[in-house]
Amino acid sequence: MTDDALGNMLAQMEAAEPYADVDEGVFERLKHPERTLKVSLPIERDDGSVEVYEGFRCQFDSARGPYKGGIRYHPGVSMDEVTALAGWMTWKTALVDLPYGGAKGGVVCDPTEMSRRERESLTRRYTEGIRRMIGPDVDVPAPDINTGQQEMAWLMDTYSMYGGYVIPDVVTGKPIEVGGTAGRVEATGRGVAITTRRMFEYLDRDLDGATVAVQGFGNVGSVTARLLSSMGADVVAVSDVSGGVHDPDGLDVMDIERYISENGVMAGYEDDAAADAIDNDHLLRLDVDALIPAAIENVITESVAEELRADLVVEAANGPTTVAADAVLRERDVPVLPDILANAGGVIVSYLEWVQNSQQYSWSLQEVNDDLELKLARGFDEMLDAYTARETPDLRTAAYVVALERVGKAHEIRGLFP
Ligand code: GLU
Repeated sequence: MTDDALGNMLAQMEAAEPYADVDEGVFERLKHPERTLKVSLPIERDDGSVEVYEGFRCQFDSARGPYKGGIRYHPGVSMDEVTALAGWMTWKTALVDLPYGGAKGGVVCDPTEMSRRERESLTRRYTEGIRRMIGPDVDVPAPDINTGQQEMAWLMDTYSMYGGYVIPDVVTGKPIEVGGTAGRVEATGRGVAITTRRMFEYLDRDLDGATVAVQGFGNVGSVTARLLSSMGADVVAVSDVSGGVHDPDGLDVMDIERYISENGVMAGYEDDAAADAIDNDHLLRLDVDALIPAAIENVITESVAEELRADLVVEAANGPTTVAADAVLRERDVPVLPDILANAGGVIVSYLEWVQNSQQYSWSLQEVNDDLELKLARGFDEMLDAYTARETPDLRTAAYVVALERVGKAHEIRGLFP
Protein backbone atom coordinates (compact mmCIF):
# COMPACT_ATOMS: atom_id res chain seq x y z
CA MET A 1 0.00 0.00 0.00
CA THR A 2 2.80 2.35 0.81
CA ASP A 3 6.42 2.56 -0.16
CA ASP A 4 7.97 1.81 3.09
CA ALA A 5 5.78 0.86 6.00
CA LEU A 6 8.35 -1.78 6.95
CA GLY A 7 11.17 0.75 6.90
CA ASN A 8 9.12 2.99 9.18
CA MET A 9 8.32 0.19 11.62
CA LEU A 10 11.98 -0.84 11.85
CA ALA A 11 13.11 2.79 12.24
CA GLN A 12 10.64 3.23 15.11
CA MET A 13 12.13 0.16 16.82
CA GLU A 14 15.67 1.45 16.30
CA ALA A 15 14.73 4.87 17.69
CA ALA A 16 13.48 3.27 20.92
CA GLU A 17 16.36 0.84 21.38
CA PRO A 18 18.74 3.25 23.16
CA TYR A 19 16.06 4.00 25.78
CA ALA A 20 14.96 0.40 26.31
CA ASP A 21 16.53 -2.27 28.43
CA VAL A 22 16.62 -5.04 25.82
CA ASP A 23 19.41 -7.56 25.27
CA GLU A 24 21.31 -6.78 22.07
CA GLY A 25 20.89 -10.29 20.64
CA VAL A 26 17.20 -10.31 21.45
CA PHE A 27 16.75 -6.93 19.75
CA GLU A 28 18.51 -8.28 16.66
CA ARG A 29 16.07 -11.18 16.38
CA LEU A 30 13.07 -8.89 16.96
CA LYS A 31 13.84 -7.12 13.69
CA HIS A 32 12.97 -10.27 11.73
CA PRO A 33 9.50 -11.82 11.39
CA GLU A 34 9.27 -15.48 12.39
CA ARG A 35 7.65 -16.51 9.11
CA THR A 36 5.55 -15.26 6.19
CA LEU A 37 3.41 -17.42 3.94
CA LYS A 38 2.51 -16.36 0.43
CA VAL A 39 -0.46 -18.05 -1.22
CA SER A 40 -1.97 -17.98 -4.72
CA LEU A 41 -5.75 -17.88 -4.71
CA PRO A 42 -7.51 -18.85 -7.97
CA ILE A 43 -11.11 -17.58 -7.92
CA GLU A 44 -13.85 -17.99 -10.49
CA ARG A 45 -15.23 -14.53 -11.24
CA ASP A 46 -18.93 -14.01 -11.92
CA ASP A 47 -18.27 -13.79 -15.68
CA GLY A 48 -16.77 -17.30 -15.65
CA SER A 49 -13.13 -16.21 -15.95
CA VAL A 50 -10.48 -17.29 -13.44
CA GLU A 51 -8.40 -14.71 -11.60
CA VAL A 52 -5.48 -15.61 -9.36
CA TYR A 53 -5.07 -13.34 -6.34
CA GLU A 54 -2.01 -13.11 -4.12
CA GLY A 55 -2.38 -13.43 -0.35
CA PHE A 56 -0.04 -13.31 2.64
CA ARG A 57 0.06 -14.11 6.34
CA CYS A 58 3.02 -12.86 8.35
CA GLN A 59 3.63 -14.18 11.88
CA PHE A 60 5.99 -11.67 13.39
CA ASP A 61 6.55 -12.78 16.97
CA SER A 62 4.99 -15.28 19.41
CA ALA A 63 7.18 -15.02 22.52
CA ARG A 64 4.22 -13.80 24.63
CA GLY A 65 1.40 -15.90 23.16
CA PRO A 66 -0.46 -16.86 19.98
CA TYR A 67 -0.01 -14.60 16.97
CA LYS A 68 -2.82 -12.05 16.59
CA GLY A 69 -3.77 -9.63 13.85
CA GLY A 70 -6.22 -8.72 11.14
CA ILE A 71 -6.68 -9.52 7.46
CA ARG A 72 -6.71 -6.69 4.93
CA TYR A 73 -8.18 -6.67 1.41
CA HIS A 74 -6.59 -3.87 -0.60
CA PRO A 75 -4.85 -3.38 -3.96
CA GLY A 76 -1.74 -2.05 -2.17
CA VAL A 77 -1.14 -5.10 0.05
CA SER A 78 2.41 -6.50 -0.20
CA MET A 79 4.64 -8.84 1.75
CA ASP A 80 6.54 -5.90 3.23
CA GLU A 81 3.34 -4.17 4.23
CA VAL A 82 1.91 -7.18 6.10
CA THR A 83 5.30 -7.63 7.77
CA ALA A 84 5.23 -4.04 9.05
CA LEU A 85 1.64 -4.43 10.20
CA ALA A 86 2.49 -7.74 11.93
CA GLY A 87 5.33 -5.97 13.73
CA TRP A 88 2.97 -3.20 14.85
CA MET A 89 0.55 -5.86 16.16
CA THR A 90 3.42 -7.34 18.20
CA TRP A 91 4.20 -3.98 19.84
CA LYS A 92 0.50 -3.16 20.28
CA THR A 93 -0.43 -6.39 22.09
CA ALA A 94 2.68 -6.03 24.27
CA LEU A 95 1.97 -2.39 25.16
CA VAL A 96 -1.56 -3.14 26.39
CA ASP A 97 -0.31 -6.40 27.90
CA LEU A 98 -2.44 -8.97 26.07
CA PRO A 99 -1.03 -12.53 26.09
CA TYR A 100 -0.49 -12.45 22.34
CA GLY A 101 2.18 -12.04 19.73
CA GLY A 102 1.65 -10.23 16.44
CA ALA A 103 0.59 -11.23 12.93
CA LYS A 104 -1.11 -9.76 9.88
CA GLY A 105 -2.60 -11.04 6.66
CA GLY A 106 -3.75 -9.53 3.43
CA VAL A 107 -4.93 -10.20 -0.10
CA VAL A 108 -4.01 -7.99 -3.05
CA CYS A 109 -7.46 -7.17 -4.43
CA ASP A 110 -10.05 -4.44 -4.74
CA PRO A 111 -13.08 -5.82 -2.89
CA THR A 112 -15.17 -2.81 -3.91
CA GLU A 113 -15.11 -4.21 -7.46
CA MET A 114 -16.07 -7.72 -6.39
CA SER A 115 -19.50 -9.24 -5.83
CA ARG A 116 -20.48 -10.80 -2.52
CA ARG A 117 -20.09 -14.27 -4.02
CA GLU A 118 -16.58 -13.45 -5.28
CA ARG A 119 -15.60 -12.06 -1.87
CA GLU A 120 -16.91 -15.20 -0.20
CA SER A 121 -14.92 -17.45 -2.58
CA LEU A 122 -11.80 -15.37 -2.01
CA THR A 123 -12.19 -15.47 1.79
CA ARG A 124 -12.77 -19.23 1.86
CA ARG A 125 -9.88 -19.93 -0.50
CA TYR A 126 -7.58 -17.64 1.50
CA THR A 127 -8.65 -19.45 4.68
CA GLU A 128 -7.80 -22.77 3.05
CA GLY A 129 -4.45 -21.31 2.01
CA ILE A 130 -3.46 -20.26 5.52
CA ARG A 131 -5.39 -22.84 7.58
CA ARG A 132 -2.32 -24.91 8.41
CA MET A 133 -0.73 -21.94 10.12
CA ILE A 134 -3.71 -20.53 12.06
CA GLY A 135 -5.77 -21.92 14.94
CA PRO A 136 -7.24 -20.84 18.30
CA ASP A 137 -3.95 -21.50 20.14
CA VAL A 138 -1.66 -20.62 17.25
CA ASP A 139 -2.69 -17.55 15.26
CA VAL A 140 -6.03 -15.77 15.49
CA PRO A 141 -7.06 -13.47 12.59
CA ALA A 142 -9.51 -10.56 12.81
CA PRO A 143 -10.91 -7.78 10.60
CA ASP A 144 -8.82 -4.99 9.11
CA ILE A 145 -9.29 -2.67 6.10
CA ASN A 146 -12.19 -3.87 3.88
CA THR A 147 -12.96 -6.95 5.98
CA GLY A 148 -15.56 -7.25 8.72
CA GLN A 149 -17.97 -9.58 10.48
CA GLN A 150 -19.10 -11.39 7.31
CA GLU A 151 -15.55 -12.26 6.21
CA MET A 152 -14.77 -13.50 9.73
CA ALA A 153 -17.89 -15.70 9.67
CA TRP A 154 -16.79 -17.23 6.33
CA LEU A 155 -13.30 -17.80 7.73
CA MET A 156 -14.71 -19.44 10.86
CA ASP A 157 -17.07 -21.60 8.81
CA THR A 158 -14.34 -22.76 6.41
CA TYR A 159 -11.89 -23.55 9.20
CA SER A 160 -14.62 -25.37 11.17
CA MET A 161 -15.63 -27.43 8.11
CA TYR A 162 -12.06 -28.74 7.83
CA GLY A 163 -11.95 -29.38 11.58
CA GLY A 164 -15.25 -31.23 11.62
CA TYR A 165 -16.68 -29.20 14.51
CA VAL A 166 -17.39 -25.56 15.34
CA ILE A 167 -14.20 -23.67 16.17
CA PRO A 168 -15.29 -20.08 16.91
CA ASP A 169 -12.06 -18.99 18.62
CA VAL A 170 -9.99 -19.35 15.42
CA VAL A 171 -11.01 -15.79 14.58
CA THR A 172 -12.29 -12.66 16.32
CA GLY A 173 -14.59 -9.91 15.06
CA LYS A 174 -17.29 -12.49 14.27
CA PRO A 175 -21.02 -11.69 14.20
CA ILE A 176 -22.65 -12.09 17.65
CA GLU A 177 -24.77 -14.98 16.32
CA VAL A 178 -21.71 -17.17 15.78
CA GLY A 179 -19.65 -16.32 18.84
CA GLY A 180 -18.81 -12.64 18.43
CA THR A 181 -18.72 -10.32 21.42
CA ALA A 182 -20.75 -7.29 22.30
CA GLY A 183 -18.75 -4.16 21.54
CA ARG A 184 -16.24 -5.55 19.01
CA VAL A 185 -17.50 -3.59 15.98
CA GLU A 186 -17.13 -0.28 17.81
CA ALA A 187 -14.04 -1.25 19.83
CA THR A 188 -11.27 0.36 17.75
CA GLY A 189 -13.11 3.67 17.37
CA ARG A 190 -14.14 3.60 21.02
CA GLY A 191 -10.50 3.09 21.97
CA VAL A 192 -9.45 6.03 19.78
CA ALA A 193 -12.07 8.26 21.44
CA ILE A 194 -11.10 7.12 24.95
CA THR A 195 -7.36 7.65 24.39
CA THR A 196 -8.02 11.02 22.71
CA ARG A 197 -10.00 12.12 25.79
CA ARG A 198 -7.12 10.93 28.01
CA MET A 199 -4.65 12.85 25.85
CA PHE A 200 -6.69 16.05 26.18
CA GLU A 201 -6.67 15.59 29.98
CA TYR A 202 -2.92 15.01 29.92
CA LEU A 203 -2.39 18.16 27.84
CA ASP A 204 -4.75 20.01 30.20
CA ARG A 205 -7.11 20.92 27.40
CA ASP A 206 -10.86 20.79 27.18
CA LEU A 207 -12.35 18.19 24.82
CA ASP A 208 -15.69 19.93 25.12
CA GLY A 209 -15.89 22.27 22.12
CA ALA A 210 -12.51 21.11 20.75
CA THR A 211 -12.34 20.86 16.95
CA VAL A 212 -11.47 17.52 15.36
CA ALA A 213 -10.79 16.41 11.77
CA VAL A 214 -11.00 12.71 10.92
CA GLN A 215 -9.46 11.32 7.74
CA GLY A 216 -11.15 8.02 6.82
CA PHE A 217 -14.73 7.14 7.60
CA GLY A 218 -14.64 3.35 7.67
CA ASN A 219 -15.27 1.26 10.76
CA VAL A 220 -12.66 3.12 12.82
CA GLY A 221 -13.10 6.71 11.61
CA SER A 222 -16.90 6.74 11.76
CA VAL A 223 -17.12 5.37 15.31
CA THR A 224 -14.32 7.67 16.46
CA ALA A 225 -16.13 10.71 15.01
CA ARG A 226 -19.47 9.69 16.50
CA LEU A 227 -18.08 9.04 20.00
CA LEU A 228 -15.92 12.16 20.08
CA SER A 229 -18.89 14.27 19.13
CA SER A 230 -20.94 12.59 21.87
CA MET A 231 -18.11 13.52 24.27
CA GLY A 232 -18.60 17.19 23.32
CA ALA A 233 -15.99 17.67 20.58
CA ASP A 234 -16.90 19.44 17.33
CA VAL A 235 -16.09 17.15 14.42
CA VAL A 236 -15.49 19.80 11.77
CA ALA A 237 -14.22 17.64 8.88
CA VAL A 238 -14.41 14.02 7.79
CA SER A 239 -13.50 12.24 4.57
CA ASP A 240 -13.48 8.86 2.90
CA VAL A 241 -11.94 7.65 -0.38
CA SER A 242 -14.73 9.34 -2.37
CA GLY A 243 -14.46 12.81 -0.85
CA GLY A 244 -14.92 14.82 2.31
CA VAL A 245 -16.94 17.51 4.03
CA HIS A 246 -16.02 20.48 6.21
CA ASP A 247 -18.11 22.70 8.45
CA PRO A 248 -16.28 24.94 10.94
CA ASP A 249 -19.36 24.89 13.20
CA GLY A 250 -19.32 21.11 13.44
CA LEU A 251 -20.86 18.31 11.38
CA ASP A 252 -23.76 16.02 12.26
CA VAL A 253 -21.83 12.71 12.28
CA MET A 254 -24.94 10.51 12.57
CA ASP A 255 -26.43 12.26 9.55
CA ILE A 256 -23.27 11.51 7.53
CA GLU A 257 -23.52 7.86 8.58
CA ARG A 258 -27.14 7.85 7.42
CA TYR A 259 -26.13 9.41 4.07
CA ILE A 260 -23.41 6.79 3.54
CA SER A 261 -25.69 3.90 4.42
CA GLU A 262 -28.13 5.20 1.78
CA ASN A 263 -25.60 6.20 -0.89
CA GLY A 264 -22.61 3.93 -0.29
CA VAL A 265 -20.06 6.78 -0.24
CA MET A 266 -19.61 10.22 1.31
CA ALA A 267 -19.31 12.07 -2.04
CA GLY A 268 -22.35 14.28 -2.58
CA TYR A 269 -23.07 14.78 1.12
CA GLU A 270 -21.95 18.41 0.84
CA ASP A 271 -24.95 19.18 -1.38
CA ASP A 272 -27.29 17.27 0.92
CA ALA A 273 -26.16 19.11 4.04
CA ALA A 274 -25.00 22.46 2.67
CA ALA A 275 -21.47 21.84 4.00
CA ASP A 276 -18.25 22.53 2.07
CA ALA A 277 -16.52 19.76 0.14
CA ILE A 278 -12.91 19.19 1.21
CA ASP A 279 -10.24 16.91 -0.20
CA ASN A 280 -7.90 14.78 1.90
CA ASP A 281 -4.92 17.09 1.40
CA HIS A 282 -6.78 20.09 2.78
CA LEU A 283 -8.33 18.10 5.60
CA LEU A 284 -4.87 17.11 6.85
CA ARG A 285 -3.83 20.77 6.94
CA LEU A 286 -6.90 22.19 8.75
CA ASP A 287 -6.42 24.36 11.81
CA VAL A 288 -7.98 22.03 14.39
CA ASP A 289 -7.32 20.91 17.94
CA ALA A 290 -6.91 17.27 16.93
CA LEU A 291 -6.20 15.60 13.60
CA ILE A 292 -7.11 11.92 13.45
CA PRO A 293 -5.82 9.95 10.45
CA ALA A 294 -8.03 6.83 10.41
CA ALA A 295 -7.36 5.37 6.98
CA ILE A 296 -4.03 4.03 5.74
CA GLU A 297 -0.28 4.29 6.21
CA ASN A 298 2.04 7.19 5.44
CA VAL A 299 -0.54 9.93 4.86
CA ILE A 300 1.31 12.35 7.15
CA THR A 301 4.41 12.87 5.06
CA GLU A 302 7.23 15.29 5.78
CA SER A 303 5.57 18.09 3.80
CA VAL A 304 2.18 17.52 5.45
CA ALA A 305 3.94 17.57 8.85
CA GLU A 306 5.55 20.90 7.98
CA GLU A 307 2.24 22.45 7.00
CA LEU A 308 -0.32 20.88 9.30
CA ARG A 309 -1.95 23.19 11.81
CA ALA A 310 -3.44 20.69 14.27
CA ASP A 311 -2.30 20.88 17.91
CA LEU A 312 -2.36 17.11 18.31
CA VAL A 313 -2.26 14.05 16.04
CA VAL A 314 -4.04 10.87 17.11
CA GLU A 315 -3.10 7.84 15.02
CA ALA A 316 -6.26 5.81 14.54
CA ALA A 317 -4.78 4.11 11.44
CA ASN A 318 -1.74 1.88 11.62
CA GLY A 319 1.41 3.71 10.59
CA PRO A 320 -0.11 6.96 9.27
CA THR A 321 3.00 9.07 10.07
CA THR A 322 6.29 8.57 8.24
CA VAL A 323 9.54 8.64 10.19
CA ALA A 324 10.56 11.92 8.52
CA ALA A 325 7.18 13.46 9.41
CA ASP A 326 7.56 12.28 13.00
CA ALA A 327 10.84 14.18 13.25
CA VAL A 328 9.20 17.35 11.93
CA LEU A 329 6.28 17.08 14.36
CA ARG A 330 8.70 16.53 17.26
CA GLU A 331 10.63 19.61 16.18
CA ARG A 332 7.39 21.60 15.96
CA ASP A 333 6.22 20.32 19.38
CA VAL A 334 3.08 18.70 17.98
CA PRO A 335 2.37 15.66 20.14
CA VAL A 336 1.49 12.39 18.38
CA LEU A 337 -0.55 9.77 20.21
CA PRO A 338 0.92 6.61 18.66
CA ASP A 339 -1.13 4.02 16.78
CA ILE A 340 -0.01 1.11 18.95
CA LEU A 341 -1.94 2.69 21.82
CA ALA A 342 -4.59 4.84 20.10
CA ASN A 343 -6.02 2.00 17.99
CA ALA A 344 -5.39 -0.87 20.42
CA GLY A 345 -9.09 -0.97 21.38
CA GLY A 346 -9.83 -3.36 18.51
CA VAL A 347 -7.39 -6.05 19.52
CA ILE A 348 -8.24 -5.61 23.21
CA VAL A 349 -11.87 -6.48 22.54
CA SER A 350 -10.73 -9.23 20.14
CA TYR A 351 -8.91 -10.70 23.12
CA LEU A 352 -12.07 -10.44 25.24
CA GLU A 353 -14.01 -12.22 22.47
CA TRP A 354 -11.41 -15.02 22.36
CA VAL A 355 -11.53 -15.43 26.14
CA GLN A 356 -15.33 -15.61 26.08
CA ASN A 357 -15.18 -18.23 23.28
CA SER A 358 -12.73 -20.37 25.21
CA GLN A 359 -14.97 -20.19 28.30
CA GLN A 360 -18.17 -20.60 26.25
CA TYR A 361 -19.62 -17.69 28.16
CA SER A 362 -20.68 -14.19 27.08
CA TRP A 363 -20.15 -10.89 28.78
CA SER A 364 -22.41 -7.85 28.72
CA LEU A 365 -21.50 -4.78 26.68
CA GLN A 366 -20.85 -2.95 29.94
CA GLU A 367 -18.35 -5.58 31.11
CA VAL A 368 -16.55 -5.49 27.76
CA ASN A 369 -16.39 -1.70 27.63
CA ASP A 370 -15.22 -1.43 31.25
CA ASP A 371 -12.37 -3.86 30.63
CA LEU A 372 -11.46 -2.09 27.39
CA GLU A 373 -11.21 1.22 29.24
CA LEU A 374 -9.13 -0.30 32.04
CA LYS A 375 -6.62 -1.89 29.68
CA LEU A 376 -6.24 1.30 27.63
CA ALA A 377 -5.77 3.37 30.79
CA ARG A 378 -3.00 1.02 31.95
CA GLY A 379 -1.27 1.19 28.57
CA PHE A 380 -1.54 4.98 28.59
CA ASP A 381 -0.08 5.24 32.12
CA GLU A 382 2.79 2.90 31.32
CA MET A 383 3.60 4.88 28.19
CA LEU A 384 3.61 8.13 30.20
CA ASP A 385 5.76 6.57 32.93
CA ALA A 386 8.35 5.53 30.34
CA TYR A 387 8.16 8.99 28.74
CA THR A 388 9.06 10.64 32.04
CA ALA A 389 11.39 8.05 33.56
CA ARG A 390 13.42 7.35 30.39
CA GLU A 391 13.18 10.89 29.01
CA THR A 392 12.23 9.63 25.56
CA PRO A 393 11.90 12.28 22.84
CA ASP A 394 8.23 11.53 22.19
CA LEU A 395 5.31 9.32 23.20
CA ARG A 396 5.83 6.81 20.39
CA THR A 397 9.35 6.05 21.60
CA ALA A 398 7.99 5.65 25.14
CA ALA A 399 5.29 3.25 23.93
CA TYR A 400 7.95 1.23 22.07
CA VAL A 401 10.14 1.11 25.19
CA VAL A 402 7.30 -0.55 27.14
CA ALA A 403 6.50 -2.95 24.29
CA LEU A 404 10.09 -3.86 23.38
CA GLU A 405 11.01 -4.54 27.00
CA ARG A 406 7.95 -6.76 27.49
CA VAL A 407 8.61 -8.80 24.34
CA GLY A 408 12.37 -8.76 24.95
CA LYS A 409 11.95 -10.06 28.49
CA ALA A 410 9.76 -12.93 27.25
CA HIS A 411 12.48 -13.90 24.74
CA GLU A 412 15.21 -13.72 27.38
CA ILE A 413 13.26 -15.89 29.82
CA ARG A 414 12.36 -18.46 27.16
CA GLY A 415 15.87 -18.54 25.72
CA LEU A 416 17.16 -19.14 22.23
CA PHE A 417 16.32 -22.53 20.72
CA PRO A 418 18.21 -24.81 20.05
N1 GLU B 1 -6.90 -5.00 12.59
C1 GLU B 1 -6.94 -4.48 13.91
C2 GLU B 1 -5.62 -3.83 14.27
O1 GLU B 1 -4.88 -3.41 13.41
C3 GLU B 1 -7.41 -5.51 14.94
C4 GLU B 1 -6.59 -6.76 15.04
C5 GLU B 1 -7.19 -7.84 15.95
O2 GLU B 1 -8.23 -7.60 16.55
O3 GLU B 1 -6.58 -8.90 16.02
O4 GLU B 1 -5.30 -3.64 15.41
